[in-house]
Amino acid sequence: MKTVVVVGGGITGLSTMYHLQKTVKARSLSVRLILLEGNEELGGKIRTVHDGPFKIEAGADSIVARKQNIQPFLKELNLEDQVVYNATGKSFIHTDGMLKGIPEDALFGIPMSLESLAKSDLVSAQGKVDALKDFYTKNETFTKNDSIGLFLESFLGKELVQKQISPVLSGVYSGKLNELTIAKTLPEMLDYKNQYGSIIRGLSENKQKYKSKGNKKFLSFKNGLSTLVERIEERLDMVEILKGVSVDKIGRNDEGYIISLANGETLETDFIVLSTPHTIAQKLLGDRELDEDFDGLINSSMISVYLGFDIPDSMLPKDGTGFIAGDNSDLICNACTWTSRKWEHTSENSQLLVRLFIKALVRTMNDYSHLQTRN
Ligand SMILES: Cc1cc2nc3c(=O)[nH]c(=O)nc-3n(C[C@H](O)[C@H](O)[C@H](O)COP(=O)(O)OP(=O)(O)OC[C@H]3O[C@@H](n4cnc5c(N)ncnc54)[C@H](O)[C@@H]3O)c2cc1C
Repeated sequence: MKTVVVVGGGITGLSTMYHLQKTVKARSLSVRLILLEGNEELGGKIRTVHDGPFKIEAGADSIVARKQNIQPFLKELNLEDQVVYNATGKSFIHTDGMLKGIPEDALFGIPMSLESLAKSDLVSAQGKVDALKDFYTKNETFTKNDSIGLFLESFLGKELVQKQISPVLSGVYSGKLNELTIAKTLPEMLDYKNQYGSIIRGLSENKQKYKSKGNKKFLSFKNGLSTLVERIEERLDMVEILKGVSVDKIGRNDEGYIISLANGETLETDFIVLSTPHTIAQKLLGDRELDEDFDGLINSSMISVYLGFDIPDSMLPKDGTGFIAGDNSDLICNACTWTSRKWEHTSENSQLLVRLFIKALVRTMNDYSHLQTRN
């Protein structure tokens, strides 16, 4: 009998095990399946905390609804009746001391029509004129390995990128636009530029692709995202799930691998799937040949802070679901979700719950000392 060990019981390890078990059952294979999780709970960066009237997501809060494989997977897990969708609403950018709406007809702040560009409150008249060069300039040099920031600036102008696109896009991809490639972010923008001669025209022609049903872009569950973790765990009836068992080292023997556990025990296996964060995988493998590849992977850190209030969320200043801080914003946070508005299930009686996102490596507490008297 062969053994397969999955190290890490986050959503990657859990879904790997789910599909392995399905294959083993379908083909009546004789395979021992073991899942090792260092924590006492499964889920990794997915964890719903119930606190008084609030349901708080410690990590991820939702799943992108338009992903093709998600609906069949939820059906298979019999979770369809648990699904909730985000409330639709306007998002804002905090700039010049106020909240300004991100145009609705835009993809990550990139206008999908001329009207969208014309109506933007975030960009000056000159910035809009600069963006029109997208319609009459040709792409002669950019390939998918170039920076998305430089590409967008070249055709849509600096102001539109800095004030409207960059706050949204760099938040979504957790990085500076000039350090992210077109290939890793929005490769179709280059295709549109080449095919239609204009990014905006390409987006206009392909608008349908980006529209979700009723504009419901994200989904979660009535009882929070941990529902998914719990349901997959319930279904893993063939898998030996060992919680609170941390892996210290992975070595090789003639037949396969030897896993050394933190509790001093060892485990022999034919196959291993590593689904830990990459820094841990690098340490566990301790293979110098792989270091160069591992070292090329970059983590970004973020602090998220929830604030729950004993007031109704109808007291929020605008009718929307949150905002992103623009480059010139002096707010402490980089973004804020009006969680009880966006996700009705997170708050009983619509009591106000907000979530602040703070890029941990960019700002430190010292950066906030000047704010103490003002906020
Ligand atoms: C604040 C935040 C918000 C996010 N929001 C979203 C969102 O809304 N939507 C979205 O799609 N994605 C979101 N993400 C990303 C998403 O949460 C992650 O990509 C995903 O959960 C990662 O799952 P994973 O299983 O690969 O890794 P992890 O969740 O990190 O799981 C790794 C597991 O390995 C275990 N482990 C580590 N070392 C060992 C060891 N030595 N031995 C045994 N076990 C070990 C850990 O305990 C952990 O359980 C967010 C991430 C964060 C941090």
